[in-house]
Amino acid sequence: MNSKIKFYNTLTGEKEDFTPINKDEVTMYSCGPTVYNYAHIGNLRAYVFTDILRKTLKYEDYNLKQIMNITDIGHLSSDADSGEDKMTKGLQREGKELTLKNMRWLAEIYAEKFFEDTGKLNIEKPDGIYFASDYITEDIELINKLKEKGYTYQTSDGIYFDTSLMPDYGILWGGKRTWNKENSRIEINSEKKQPEDFTLWKFDNKIGFPSTFGQGFPGWHIECSAMSMKFLGDQIDIHTGGVDHISVHHTNEIAQSECATGKKPFVKYWMHNEHVDTGGEKMAKATGNFLKLSSVIEKGIDPIAYRFWLLMASYRTKMNFNWEALMGAEVALKRLYTLYNELGNTIGNIDENHRNKFKEYLEDDLDTPRALTVLWDLIKNEKISNADKKATILDFNKVLGLGFENLKQETIPEEIIKLAEEREQARKNKDFKKSDEIRKKINSLGYEVKDSSDSYKISKI
Ligand SMILES: [Zn+2]
Repeated sequence: MNSKIKFYNTLTGEKEDFTPINKDEVTMYSCGPTVYNYAHIGNLRAYVFTDILRKTLKYEDYNLKQIMNITDIGHLSSDADSGEDKMTKGLQREGKELTLKNMRWLAEIYAEKFFEDTGKLNIEKPDGIYFASDYITEDIELINKLKEKGYTYQTSDGIYFDTSLMPDYGILWGGKRTWNKENSRIEINSEKKQPEDFTLWKFDNKIGFPSTFGQGFPGWHIECSAMSMKFLGDQIDIHTGGVDHISVHHTNEIAQSECATGKKPFVKYWMHNEHVDTGGEKMAKATGNFLKLSSVIEKGIDPIAYRFWLLMASYRTKMNFNWEALMGAEVALKRLYTLYNELGNTIGNIDENHRNKFKEYLEDDLDTPRALTVLWDLIKNEKISNADKKATILDFNKVLGLGFENLKQETIPEEIIKLAEEREQARKNKDFKKSDEIRKKINSLGYEVKDSSDSYKISKI
């Protein structure tokens, strides 16, 4: 493997050489959606990012095993064990009784909607997708391990993790023990020993799952630790999620995983994508400041234009969404499609120079904006044959996922082809008057002929 990949690792705050724990298989865990409502286009950025990451690793010939969870047990799904519960809110909206069965019903509906959206964005499905509620036994086992090692304590409402017992708690956040004391989202719970201590198991006598600690629900963070360990092992290469997961969710995943196994680090490379803002504010369902992918489609915009727009910035750059920017991206994408369609039907060889450049940019922490400049440069390059351009674009498309493989060649009517042939003959005979007349006739029928040194191309006007 001659890969020279560098990834920005949130854990160290630096771009680092990527060397997987096991060279035969890269293990990656992606925090999945909480399925109580439609995803908004800001949420979907996280999955376009993991898709580019996934496809880049495969492009670089790594074997990859990527797992994603679906959070379908809502009781503690707010970031900091506080605030309104998302799944409960979803069931109330649907006018359904709060039961485990109904939670699953709701989750399956919105998981399907989620995959419809990701499919429209050409996002490949991870190798394993699992609902959290199917792995409660694994959560309980992990909590028991922490209990045996003395990391937990019980209050009247649940089992908590004692963060004071982990000297490097908060390392993802810069290793500061006082990091979230001022964080207003942490609710004051008088029974907690430290404000940053978090729930591993929350008691609920009405609708919870049975456990040795009493009926209840697992904390949100524990599902990702338990499922990551079950499917990928105690230590993994990459864990992805939005930047909003750094301070609480991922910090707590590290704490419970490393304390349970005694192995550090739980994750070698933590990778986080930035948000999409709209009107200067973070897109969020809680505030109502959000857009669904269906709103983009209803406006007549190709959803791939949204993917293309996202790729115009690094995944670590905050983006500000507005319709003008998206429509601009769509115009550029359609231009690429037109240029691609003009390349003809023959697929030649991949241009190695352009491929190397394209790879070099992706290897630099997935620099998609620069990778796109290679695509434009290639398509406009006069020294490369159309067939080779086509082969190279289809190769780049394995990572970019811009839909080139599905573009239909325009079918030109027989009458137009005949006229174009006649015109070409006239041109060869230097009968320019005749060739000009035929060109005008072709134009009047809605087509145009473009000449190159040794051939010509017909396209719709
Ligand atoms: Zn997670």
